[in-house]
Amino acid sequence: MASNWHESVFFGLHYDLHADAEDTELGAAVSHKLLRSAWQRIGPDWVQCDCKGHPGYTSYPTRVGTASPGIVRDALRIHREVTQELGLLLVMHYSGIWDEVAIAQHPDWARVAADGSRVPGRACPRGDYLTALLIPQMLEVIDDYDVDGFWVDGDVWATQPCYCERCRAAFATQTGITTPPRAAGEPSWSAWLTFQRQSYETYARRYADAVHGRKPECLVCTNWLYSVRHPDVPTLPVDFLSGDFSHAWGLERALAEARFLGSRGRPWNLMAWTFSTGEDIHGGWNTKTKAQLCQEAAEVISNGGALCLYVHPPRSGHLVGWQHDLLAEVADFVRARQAVSQGSTSVPQAAVLHGQVHYYAHNEPLYGLGQATYAVEGALHALLDAGYHADLQNEQGLLRYLSTYGLVVIPEQDPLAEEVTAALPEYVEQGGQLILSGHQVARNPTLARLAGVSAAGDPRPGFHQLPTAGETVAVAGPWQPVRLAGAQAQLELLAGPEPARHRTGTAAITTRLLGRGTVTVVHGPVFRAYYRTRYPRLRRLLRALVRSAWQTPAVDIEAPGSVALTLRQRGSSTVVHLLNRAADPPTSPRQVMVERVPPVGPVTVRLHRLQRPGAVRLVPAGDESLPWTWDDHRLTVTVPRLEVHAALVVEAASPVA
Ligand SMILES: [Zn+2]
Repeated sequence: MASNWHESVFFGLHYDLHADAEDTELGAAVSHKLLRSAWQRIGPDWVQCDCKGHPGYTSYPTRVGTASPGIVRDALRIHREVTQELGLLLVMHYSGIWDEVAIAQHPDWARVAADGSRVPGRACPRGDYLTALLIPQMLEVIDDYDVDGFWVDGDVWATQPCYCERCRAAFATQTGITTPPRAAGEPSWSAWLTFQRQSYETYARRYADAVHGRKPECLVCTNWLYSVRHPDVPTLPVDFLSGDFSHAWGLERALAEARFLGSRGRPWNLMAWTFSTGEDIHGGWNTKTKAQLCQEAAEVISNGGALCLYVHPPRSGHLVGWQHDLLAEVADFVRARQAVSQGSTSVPQAAVLHGQVHYYAHNEPLYGLGQATYAVEGALHALLDAGYHADLQNEQGLLRYLSTYGLVVIPEQDPLAEEVTAALPEYVEQGGQLILSGHQVARNPTLARLAGVSAAGDPRPGFHQLPTAGETVAVAGPWQPVRLAGAQAQLELLAGPEPARHRTGTAAITTRLLGRGTVTVVHGPVFRAYYRTRYPRLRRLLRALVRSAWQTPAVDIEAPGSVALTLRQRGSSTVVHLLNRAADPPTSPRQVMVERVPPVGPVTVRLHRLQRPGAVRLVPAGDESLPWTWDDHRLTVTVPRLEVHAALVVEAASPVA
């Protein structure tokens, strides 16, 4: 097998233009000197540049597709020559599936919607688009420019169910069903979507194989493949994973994606847009601040990923000087942390299940998130906001590492894979702490037995209240009334905000001791509620719930609510990354840019350590000394002041000779 260069890279730049029919000056401003000067200043490990965007026009002179009429100079050639000169890897931004001009020229290649209409600009993965255009064009670029990789845009996230004759016939051959379902709820809907996902995967496998066949060391990445929106077991021959997280509120998107990509067993990066806009796109795109880019970068590298910065140059390909000065500062920020970030692995603590079975039963076909991950992301946020380190795993990842997790949260997963259900009793009996949520738990015979409850009547829709420290917090339903059958009631469900007046007599939260562990069930959609509201009383309730269920986390912190941590192992060092998510002035839907990250502190970190550490240091090193103590197997460190990010590095003591 060819070597995978993405395993050793840490910082990249991505440029794309989405060349179209209206362009008039593509490449006009691109020169060897311009690129050399920018990249020598910034020092990326790899560069991604424009090749073909969603309009389908190439920005290089193609022989097999449609070149933009606006090509003045072959910018791709210059990008290749300068990257080669500087020893940088060059990756193509190439849009697949979403291709306006190819579908306009070849209507037969189009995806067909459920109503029988051809969808403009979208290809069917079973059509000739793959073999007549996409693969020949990728091979052309390899042959003519000797590129080092493809970052395929559109593609998985732009794919939706196709009802063309090819797809219907193939589905009929596979299943005997001649009339495919048109909407959720119709018979065979799940089988139809499974078939559609197989169509996409077969298509993606063919182009990845074609690229590797032509140049084995040329890497293939498909934007958002195997991310939160595609939680399948990674089987396609893609070499690294990546996604460009949302330009606004990117920190929150990166939070979930980094933790999921980090669980997938492939090299990965996340791409931060270096620009954003308020008020949808009507405000005009503008470059983000250094503070915001560093905050987003820190989220990625704190989880062991490589960082890529997305730059959208003017149509001429000019690299704007002040923007690249800013990128150089962000590059310095991540390089100062590279030695304690790159190549680290998560220390298993808590895991949240992001199940494929649940996801594909509720998402927007084929790979749109819809609201299918609200509960999953709510559980992840609840753990991180409470100061815990947490992984996000699909079924296979969870089962593989189940015994290593002290706490497992299965948030409103309906349905839940049978193999997961089957593994839970032993996990708990052996000392695992399990939190389940949702009205469906008590209605599932196996889970109800495990939880020590039974359903008592129908779920109650509408808003209810949960008691917390003498107050209450509103949470949407449905809530399942339960009878106790071995479990204890932990909190009562309330019908209104006055705890003494609004009792319902049924438990909202139950706990059952089983073997050496516990099963805690929240009998309503509490994590979906947390995702949607982040109500402080709900956070307090969930923090108390986790604390009572799980008393042995390896790390905990005393810090303002803006601080989230990751716990990573790198060689013999344990690294606690501290990320300050604060913003000043406060952000809002009309103020999406983080201008300044107000420093916080002190932040106290307590880390379980059987042995006294050899050394404890902060990266980057602060001005003040870093006092620490170790007793009763617990290291306590107080970081006086946290800016955007710092890594607390705990070195093992040298073995006694
Ligand atoms: Zn089709």
